[in-house]
Amino acid sequence: MKGFHYFQPTEIDFGCGRLNGVGAAVSRWGKRCLLVTVPEFPEFSVLYIKVKDLLKASGVAVAHFDGVIPNPTTDVITAGARLAKEHRADVVLGLGGGSSMDAAKAIAVEASHPGTAWDYLFFREKQPTAATLPIVIVTTTSGTGSQVTQVAVITNPAEKNKSALYNSLLYPRTSIVDPELVRTAPPSVTASTGFDVFAHAFESYIHPAGSAYTDLMALEALRLVSRCLPKAVADGDDLEARTSMAWADTLAGLCIANSGVTLPHGIGMAMSGLYPHVAHGRALAAVYPAMMRFTWQAAENRFAAVARILDPTLQPLDDREAARRSGEAVDRLLKEIHLWTSLADLGIPEAEVRRLAEASLVLPDYKNHPKVVTLDEVVHLLNLSYRAQPEEA
Ligand code: NAD
Repeated sequence: MKGFHYFQPTEIDFGCGRLNGVGAAVSRWGKRCLLVTVPEFPEFSVLYIKVKDLLKASGVAVAHFDGVIPNPTTDVITAGARLAKEHRADVVLGLGGGSSMDAAKAIAVEASHPGTAWDYLFFREKQPTAATLPIVIVTTTSGTGSQVTQVAVITNPAEKNKSALYNSLLYPRTSIVDPELVRTAPPSVTASTGFDVFAHAFESYIHPAGSAYTDLMALEALRLVSRCLPKAVADGDDLEARTSMAWADTLAGLCIANSGVTLPHGIGMAMSGLYPHVAHGRALAAVYPAMMRFTWQAAENRFAAVARILDPTLQPLDDREAARRSGEAVDRLLKEIHLWTSLADLGIPEAEVRRLAEASLVLPDYKNHPKVVTLDEVVHLLNLSYRAQPEEA
């Protein structure tokens, strides 16, 4: 067995009703909290009141920054950091999906350091220091795994670039994963975030930095997604399916924090940098069918294992045949969750395919894909993903 290093400092409080512990969790790290969320909407208004009440009951003074947008931008982070400083916040609570969680992480950096969060991206010399405000998370989607990662994804609209802070100081101190909170997510959000869980587990499973530890979690996450994501999409009140997806999301997050993501996430990041209206999971869904067909020969046993999880009728086949059919197995999942899509459906101009391909090779994720692509190969993959999905790639 290959040796590995595994690190995970986040305390996880998992289960229905665990939201009730938010006041106690936050007050361990600070007494002046910046609450970071998207603007109020009907499904969340009671939640916001409840969280603020729980914080106040634990002696925590709250300022509420409710300016987060999906794929949060650098100006959103700056506005949040300004309020954090005005409030003299000593802890940041991110409440919501990946956009709110990542905004909270980036605000925790910008509010405590000179310059902006964008100055502290993963590849820069300047990195967050111990001054970073402690981060507590309450997640409301089952998708990004951000509740247990050291990553904050943010978008710079001026540069049309989506990139990430990546630093151990961004691991949340405490994360509350309460599946009750995901119940209100509509089917389209459930499907696109749930497919992100699939992609995290799958990509960490085929990643060279994967280990026996992350494989164990990735395979369990894939089994849970295969069994429960269609149920959660069909019936948002199916609490058993919601709980399984919340656990799969957390497992897949633990995987990416220690292994990583590969080519599809590189393309997905580029896509939402250039076209911020595209939901992260939807971007992944558009490229997965072609990517599976393009890659399976480079990691046959891994693609075969995943194909058999998605489609148990492939069990009797040998690795080569099961792996060859892994694309069909993903097609079936995407159709079942009504996420079968293409770049054209996402409104991406066909003339910009090459530009998107170039942007897909900016982040290093593609270098960890089992088959390392050239620019022309990404163009080919994106052309295949443009309209009808391919039979072979
Ligand atoms: P999101 O946070 O953007 O939420 C999508 C939409 O669903 C929003 O309109 C939100 O208000 C709504 N929503 C969220 N929870 C809801 C609920 N319970 N009920 C009703 N509506 C709800 O979506 P996301 O997929 O969770 O996050 C996407 C962001 O996370 C992207 O910026 C992506 O790049 C990033 N990301 C981060 C990591 C990481 O490790 N930090 C990993 C993957 C993706």
